[in-house]
Amino acid sequence: MASIELRNVNKWYGQAVHAVKDVSFTIEDGEFFGLLGPSGSGKTSVLRMLAGLETITEGDMLFDGLSVADKTPQQRNIAMVFEQNALYPHMTARQNIAYPLKIRGKSKHEIDEMVGDVARMLHIDHLIDRRASQMSGGQQQRVAIARALVRRPNLLCLDEPIAHLDTLLRARLRGELKRLQRSLGTTSVIVTHDPIEAMTMTDRLAVMRDGVLQQIGAADEIHNRPINAFVSQFFGLHSMNLFRLSQLREETGRHYAKLESGEVGVPSALKDMASKSGSLILGCRPHAVEVLKAGEEAPADSFTVTGKVYVAEPLGDEMLVTIQVGDLIVQAFDGRKRDYAIDEEVTVAARSEMLYAFNPETEDTIRFSEGGGSSLKSEMLAV
Ligand code: ADP
Ligand code: MG
Repeated sequence: MASIELRNVNKWYGQAVHAVKDVSFTIEDGEFFGLLGPSGSGKTSVLRMLAGLETITEGDMLFDGLSVADKTPQQRNIAMVFEQNALYPHMTARQNIAYPLKIRGKSKHEIDEMVGDVARMLHIDHLIDRRASQMSGGQQQRVAIARALVRRPNLLCLDEPIAHLDTLLRARLRGELKRLQRSLGTTSVIVTHDPIEAMTMTDRLAVMRDGVLQQIGAADEIHNRPINAFVSQFFGLHSMNLFRLSQLREETGRHYAKLESGEVGVPSALKDMASKSGSLILGCRPHAVEVLKAGEEAPADSFTVTGKVYVAEPLGDEMLVTIQVGDLIVQAFDGRKRDYAIDEEVTVAARSEMLYAFNPETEDTIRFSEGGGSSLKSEMLAV
């Protein structure tokens, strides 16, 4: 086990690709840490530098306060599990798991004990004498995880380890990995592009975009207080609806602004947040809005935008309504679970306190929603 620190880490591939840009963060001893971001954001590069599989172009990396920049993966004592496991297909599960212990010269007795322990933890003891080539994808991945953990690494690096498995199996392995990590207390880093994996398994996570670290924190914190428009849209079970407004103006006591495809009503509390030219980005989560049918009145002084129903999908206790507003797609949950016709005209309304606001130039958050219906907990309950 170890605590990890990255100091201004940069990775260049040749002269053209600056894949990781000045990334600094610390991971506590025993923590389960997530690296989350879209494809190409530099997650794997960070993980491979942590593991010692890739050199650091600039900056430093410390394990328990000591630089490991020049150390091999063996010297760092890391273990790694990739999306595609690299088991020896002709070897049995037992032989695969025992392999790293064997090359370290452990006795047969020790090996049997350690392999038995980890096999039980991963529920693969009944498969222990089956060849890897005769196992399902999920079973193989369990064996790969067992092999990584059996020698008690300082750091466990997981790169999209369950991404290719089917939904049910992924959900099970998510839980098992978390349980295992907790009981062993091994400092672990998981790379994923899936916000659900990141939020369910990790203690804290880092969101990356184009090689730049955007935000670090617990899932709840990032969900409720995203630092910018990108994080607000990327992180969550349902993407935040974003509205890029311009020409904010007042007319008979009510505020309006232009959306590319029409006009929206803007709560007066937000009028001072617009730029000098009257631009502003507003955001609201699909659970923080109301869908109004023709003739229904919006709450006073709320944000309102009108469009046409693209599709309405029943999801358990509620209806997920997808609405087309010009080129923009807006999503809203209707807890009343009413029926909607395709192309029916509806208005989405959000009370002022439900809205996020972002600087139109930098896209940094300038105002957080005051919650209510938009918390991660209520989103999770809705799945
Ligand atoms: P992620 O894991 O988030 O998808 P990566 O760390 O794999 O991101 O890649 C980050 C960027 O670096 C991408 O633009 C990718 O194309 C580039 N890249 C990754 N590995 C190499 C490499 N070995 N040589 C050149 N470019 C690379
Ligand atoms: Mg990757």
